[in-house]
Parts: sequence; structure tokens; C-alpha cells
Amino acid sequence: MRIAILTGAGISAESGLGTFRDKDGLWTQFDLAEVATPEGYGRNPAKVLDFYNMRRANARDAKPNAAHHALGRLCDTHDVTLITQNIDDLHEQGGAKDALHIHGSLFEALCAACGHVWPHRDDMSVRDVCPDCGTAGTVRPNIVWFGEIPYLMDEAVAAIRTADLFVSIGTSGTVYPAAGFVEIAQEAGVGTLELNLEASGGRFDEVREGAASVIVPKWVDDVVSAKG
Ligand code: NAD
Repeated sequence: MRIAILTGAGISAESGLGTFRDKDGLWTQFDLAEVATPEGYGRNPAKVLDFYNMRRANARDAKPNAAHHALGRLCDTHDVTLITQNIDDLHEQGGAKDALHIHGSLFEALCAACGHVWPHRDDMSVRDVCPDCGTAGTVRPNIVWFGEIPYLMDEAVAAIRTADLFVSIGTSGTVYPAAGFVEIAQEAGVGTLELNLEASGGRFDEVREGAASVIVPKWVDDVVSAKG
């Protein structure tokens, strides 16, 4: 069975990383237009870099939870394409290889001048210099901001269209294009399942509600035992 899985901030919530839109979510504390758009970065790069320095520090301390570990196990036994909107590295720490990070990574830098991308685990500053083109003041996190085009969309959509099952985990389904993945799956005749604390209201064949650390391992056990 081929499975395409989309994850969102909800799978990392129990690892201590805030979601965006829930009560107390990051967007209730910060202005999205200021910290997650190219225009915000253009206006005040230091503020944007500080915001992500804080989030990178949180993510550096975070540990994968039972849901990340369960998906890591599933990747070992099944044909899984894991597509994540998350910019943390908890899927990798949980044992999943080759996750498609369609919104980029907190742990990579991108030079806004030349497009060079490199691993970057420390704080970023407006004084940083691109190691490739030598430009100063153009180093930013390799994160897809609002108004920018997500990465790896062709691979993600192809995996969904050719899957037997599409599973959406811990995402509110409000950020496009990922929010449209369930329709892409349905148009291709692929079964759809949502695992979420609360149903997003998307058109899924089946919805299971609960905390990711509980319902994701349970679902993985069901899939593994069905294989026999
Ligand atoms: P969102 O904040 O819009 O929605 C969070 C979803 O998680 C909700 O549907 C909520 O019901 C669910 N949820 C909350 N706690 C849960 C739990 N314990 N178990 C299961 N589900 C739970 O987040 P989203 O849909 O991922 O929004 C997309 C954007 O958020 C993306 O751009 C993504 O990059 C970004 N984001 C990423 C991180 C991260 O990398 N850890 C954190 C916050 C936001």
C-alpha cells in the first residue's frame, strides 16, 4: 500500500512547538505580515531574524513525540511519502528519511541575493555574509513565507495522486496549496483520512480526532497489523 502523508504544526505541538492558529498560537502573539512575508523582511530584517532565532532555539531543544516516532516506523515498513509543512526537524529525529519540507527548514539559510542554501543551526544576524557570493545582509532562513512558492510541489502532488491513501495529520487546512491536497487526492480516487485534535472541516472520507501522540501510533499499528 502506498501512503502519502501531510503533516502540520499539530504533530509537533506536544513536542513543545507552538502551532500557528490555535488559541495561544504564534499568530495571536506575532503579526504574520511583519515576520512571515518577504515584505516584512525587507522592512525590518533584524526583527524577522530574531523571530526565527527564537523559534530555531525552541526547535533545537525539542524532542520528537510518539507520533513522529510512529511515522518513522511506518516509513521503514511501507511505501510512504511524508510531506510536511513543518520547518522543524522532528520527523528526521523520529526516524523518517526524505520528508518533503514544502515550507523549507529552520535549520537552513538562504541567500536572498544569489539563492544559495546551506545548513545553519545557529542564530542569524543582519551582519551575516553569504558563503557563496560574499554578499552581506541578505542571509535569511530557508523558509517559505506567505506570498512565496512552496518547494517540491511536483513531487508532493505526484505522490498524492499515485497513493492508495492520503492522510492529513495535525493541520488546519488553511494554508494553500497544501490545503488543497485532499481535493487532489479525491479527484484521483485516493482514499482520504484526517488525524487531528479537532476535525478541520475538510472533505475527508474518515476523520479520527485526538492528540497526535495517541491517535497517530494507534493508526500506524492498525496499518502495520492489516499488512499481516
Ligand atoms: P495551524 O496552526 O494552522 O493548525 C494546527 C492544527 O494542529 C489544528 O488543526 C489543530 O487542531 C491541530 N493540533 C493542535 N494540537 C494538536 C495535537 N496535540 N495533536 C493533533 N493535532 C493538533 O498549523 P498548520 O496547519 O501546520 O499551518 C500551516 C503553517 O504552520 C505552515 O506554514 C507551517 O510551516 C507552520 N508551522 C510550523 C510549525 C513547526 O514547524 N513545528 C509550527 C507552527 C506553524
